[in-house]
Amino acid sequence: MIFTQIELAPADPILGLTDAFKADTRTEKVNLGVGIYKDESGSTPILKSVKLAEERILATQKSKSYLGIEGVEAYNRVVQELLFGEGHEVVKNKRALTAQAPGGTGSLRVAAEFLVRNTESKTIWVSNPTWANHQNIFTSAALKIKQYRYYKAETHGKDFDAMIADLKTAKEGDLVLLHGCCHNPTGIDLTQAEWHIIAELCLEQSLVPLFDFAYQGFGTGVEEDAQGLRIVANKVPELIIANSFSKNFGLYNERIGAVTLVAENQADVIKAFSQVKSTIRGNYSNPPAHGALIVSTILGDSELTTLWQSELKEMRERIAKMRSLFVETLKSAGVKQDFSFISTQNGMFSFSGLTKEQVAKLKDDHAVYIVGSGRISVAGMTIENMPVICKAIAAVL
Ligand code: PMP
Repeated sequence: MIFTQIELAPADPILGLTDAFKADTRTEKVNLGVGIYKDESGSTPILKSVKLAEERILATQKSKSYLGIEGVEAYNRVVQELLFGEGHEVVKNKRALTAQAPGGTGSLRVAAEFLVRNTESKTIWVSNPTWANHQNIFTSAALKIKQYRYYKAETHGKDFDAMIADLKTAKEGDLVLLHGCCHNPTGIDLTQAEWHIIAELCLEQSLVPLFDFAYQGFGTGVEEDAQGLRIVANKVPELIIANSFSKNFGLYNERIGAVTLVAENQADVIKAFSQVKSTIRGNYSNPPAHGALIVSTILGDSELTTLWQSELKEMRERIAKMRSLFVETLKSAGVKQDFSFISTQNGMFSFSGLTKEQVAKLKDDHAVYIVGSGRISVAGMTIENMPVICKAIAAVL
C-alpha cells in the first residue's frame, strides 16, 4: 500500500474556513473569510457586462477547438493594455509577452515554475504578512521563500524602512513579490514615492520584481491602481506580472488570469516566453476559452467597457462605504479601541489586529468567521450583517 502512511493535510487557512462555515447550523452566521465580493443583499452576482458578453459569445462561437498554449490572442493584448496603459514603451517595443493562465494562482504558479527551471533565481522575497497561498504556490514550484517586513502591528501601518532594510540584504537575481495594489491581507499599499524607491532598489541590486496583481480597480481605479507597476516597469528592465480577473470582473470560477513577461528587449522576451509556454504545456497544455473571451469581448467594445467600469466602481464604492460603517458601528457597539485605520486601508480586506484567540471566539461563540491572521473581508459586510459583526467583535475584545 502506498497511501496508508500519508498524513491528513491541514485544512486550508482560507478555503477550509468556508467548509466549516457551510457546516455551521447557526442561523445568524457570517462568513468574512474568503475574499469574495458580496452586494448589499449578500450575494455575488454575475456582472451585467459579463452577461452581455456571454450572450455575444454564445451567439457567435463556432468551435471548441483547442486554443494555442498562450490562450486567446485578443485577450493577451487587452491584458497588456490594462497593465501598462495605452501606448506604453514596454508594449511598443514588444518587450512584453503574455500568456492567459488559470486565475491569479495559476499565473503565479506558471511564473514560479518557469523561473525555477530556466533561471538562477531560486529565492523569492514575500511580505510579512502575505496572502496565505503564496507560501504553498512557491514551495510547490521549489522556490525558496524569504520574508521582508511590511507591517507594524503597533501602528496598524506600514513599516517601509524595515521593508527596505530587508530587501537591501537580497542577493542579485533574487525575486521580490510585490502586491500591485490592495495588499492582501493588510490593505496597506505603497505610495507613489515608495514605489519609486522600490524600483530604484530593484534596479541597483538587480532584483526581479514579480507582481501579484489580483485587485486592479478595487483600490482607487483601474489606471490609478496600476501606477506602482508602471513606475517599476519604467525603470526595471526585467519583471513578471501575474494578474487575475477573479475579483474585478467577478469571474471567480472561470479561473482567468495571465502571466506577463517583460524582458530587456524583444529578442530576450521571445526566447524566455518560449519557456513559459513549455512550462504551461507540461502543466495543463493550454487554457480554457470562456473567461478569456468574456474579458476580451468586454474590453474590445467601448460600451461594454464603460458598463464594466461603472460596475467595478459600484463594487469599489460599496466596500469603501462598508469600511466607514464598520468603524462607526464598532463605536456604537461600545468599542473604545481606535479602529479608524480600517477606513484608510485599500481593497477587500481589513487587517483588524484581532488575536488568534479573539478570532477563535468570534467563530465559536458568535458564528462570525474571519481568517486566523485577523484578516476580515470587508467585501462580505452588508448594512444588515454589520450590527451582528460589530456586536460580536465588541464581545471578544
Ligand atoms: N493573489 C492574491 C493576493 C489574492 O488575494 C488572490 C485571490 N484571493 C489571488 C492571487 C488568486 O486569485 P485567483 O482566484 O484568480 O487565483
